Amino acid sequence: MSTSLPDRDLASEFPFLTAEHDAFRLQVRERLAECVLPHADAWEERRRVGAEGWKALGAAGLLEIGHTGEDFLRSAVLLEELGGSGYAGIRAAVGVHAYMALSYLLMFGSAEQRAAHLPPAYRGERVTALAISEPDAGSDLRDLRTYAAPRGDGENAGFLLDGHKSYVANGTGAGLLVVLARTRLPAPGSGPERGLTGASMLLVDAESPGITRRPQPMLGWRSADLATITFEGVELPADAVLGRRDRALTQLMRALDFERLVAGLLAVGGARHTLRLVDAHVRSRRIKGVPLGTHQSVRHRLGELYGEFDMVRRYAYHAAWLHTRGRLDTRTASVLKLRATELALSAAQACSQLHGAQGYLEDSAAARVHRDATAGTIAAGASELMRDMIYEAH
Ligand SMILES: Cc1cc2nc3c(=O)[nH]c(=O)nc-3n(C[C@H](O)[C@H](O)[C@H](O)COP(=O)(O)OP(=O)(O)OC[C@H]3O[C@@H](n4cnc5c(N)ncnc54)[C@H](O)[C@@H]3O)c2cc1C
Repeated sequence: MSTSLPDRDLASEFPFLTAEHDAFRLQVRERLAECVLPHADAWEERRRVGAEGWKALGAAGLLEIGHTGEDFLRSAVLLEELGGSGYAGIRAAVGVHAYMALSYLLMFGSAEQRAAHLPPAYRGERVTALAISEPDAGSDLRDLRTYAAPRGDGENAGFLLDGHKSYVANGTGAGLLVVLARTRLPAPGSGPERGLTGASMLLVDAESPGITRRPQPMLGWRSADLATITFEGVELPADAVLGRRDRALTQLMRALDFERLVAGLLAVGGARHTLRLVDAHVRSRRIKGVPLGTHQSVRHRLGELYGEFDMVRRYAYHAAWLHTRGRLDTRTASVLKLRATELALSAAQACSQLHGAQGYLEDSAAARVHRDATAGTIAAGASELMRDMIYEAH
């Protein structure tokens, strides 16, 4: 592991990062090189991050870096470096656990809920998953069909959870699920509810009776442990609700901006990895007696991508900085998510094309970035949805 950073990675590129962030970036790279990269191919094959990996990340303190305030800049560095590992499945698994799912607990959880669930999550002993999407409710969550029917009165009042979630990252391995469900039932005789008023975010023990989890293997993001989860008469206590009951809509609006910021930072790291991969290749591969990168069409294609990368990376840290000030807005988060994931996809296409047949070999790094990159433009909100949000916020 190198003991210094390449010039372009240095904090001095950004007004609000310091030498401490450089030291932290190096430390993260060392930890990832020790506890992730040696196992990454095996995790891809097993389609989930190993328990030992989670615990090693926890022991290194990498699952509990702050979500808010100045500390989030360290998170931004960590997220970029996770993306830079070149394994989008691993970065998604960690991003969903340590940021996307836990953000609901941190933002809306009671002191008791946080005390019970955060320590094992930070140690990597209990992984979390976020179960929002359903087969018929993805970009448009208004058709949500998972119900948590209120039952009983008074202190013992709880819920009975029924429904079906899909594409849940960390789905089979998680111990704790953060689930979106309707907690207000439709009036007798009326059709199914539409819209999200009357929905809540719920904490669900993944080992509860009535839960069935099945792997849902994806083309890419192989170590992200995607799964379907079915709930059949799952009994939940009254304190399963995160924050105020029936208020998921307002909670989602806040949490989804944060999710897009996280997805954007991860994708910046992914794009960086891909561009370094293609750069090394076009310097070493000789065609017509000269390095491939000497040909003008290649130089121009990569020049465009490098330029776009510089802009998007700066924008990503700008968005992270806004978040440290409590000023991240939907438009900024959506612009970042859109541009970073689309850039990662364009870079991946160039990378596999310029690798020729080598890049089409199933086990090659170029093939992995290619199959991983498409998912980035769908998960955490499809690109079309991001464009809609940007237009509406304009
Ligand atoms: C790898 C991966 C990991 C995921 N992890 C999770 C997870 O951990 N938890 C979870 O709850 N969900 C997860 N998801 C689900 C993800 O959030 C949804 O896939 C996403 O919201 C899109 O929903 P959908 O797949 O149902 O597509 P649909 O809503 O059916 O949309 C299909 C396509 O239609 C287009 N489209 C959508 N909206 C518009 C529009 N307004 N205008 C024009 N075109 C449009 C887009 O191209 C989109 O891809 C994951 C998905 C993937 C691929």
